[in-house]
Amino acid sequence: MRWTYASLTDRGSRRRRNEDALLVVPERGLFAVADGMGGHAAGDVASRLAVAALASAVPDPLPPDLGAEAVGQHLRAAVLAAHEAIVAEAEAIPAQRGMGTTLTVLSPLPHQARAVIAHIGDSRVYRVRDGALEQLTRDHTWIQGQLDAGMLTPAQARSHPWSSVLLRVLGGEGDAEPDICTVDTRVGDLLLLCTDGLSSVVDGVDLGVLLTQALPLETLAAQLVEAALVRGAPDNVTVVLLQAHPLPL
Ligand code: CA
Repeated sequence: MRWTYASLTDRGSRRRRNEDALLVVPERGLFAVADGMGGHAAGDVASRLAVAALASAVPDPLPPDLGAEAVGQHLRAAVLAAHEAIVAEAEAIPAQRGMGTTLTVLSPLPHQARAVIAHIGDSRVYRVRDGALEQLTRDHTWIQGQLDAGMLTPAQARSHPWSSVLLRVLGGEGDAEPDICTVDTRVGDLLLLCTDGLSSVVDGVDLGVLLTQALPLETLAAQLVEAALVRGAPDNVTVVLLQAHPLPL
């Protein structure tokens, strides 16, 4: 199979800066979004550093016959290298202390009909297959833990004051271990990487409706950002879309 892609990022309506970053390097099979946080403009330093460190830490090129497990190990090492780079920068520049970022990476393996995901924080990967939307990543948030334990309903979680508290980020003091997973891919699959500026304001039902329209990926990306903007876009919004197609005969 082969992949087409589109991406878009927007400052949103209320933030003065865009602290999200994205990486789209199709020839290397590297797609990522990062959502930075920290005062004194350090959030955008953290997210940009994360995607740059990721891009330089993953071997270029990755051997084409590498299995999913080996690709996962490379992605894990690259995410940990990005963490180290952010920690070093924050230690060197006092104004950037405390900066951090999410990082969600997807690497399609087109010859194996699989994709590898490395993920830390609350940026997400969704897949649309046969008209159904599925979230492939699990947020590293306090709220997700409460949902898993049945302590909160999804409606309570959405309006909870701690809804944005992250348990794992790059650059933080705690564990920076990413979740690594492999998913199978099929012709027709649509994959979305996004920051919480989209997923916190556009719910799964609306996301499913938007993503099942037969439209060019650029149009879909613009519609996703527009959906966040019409809902007030309190945060930066970033989307990366990929779609799997059959190889030409
Ligand atoms: Ca955000």
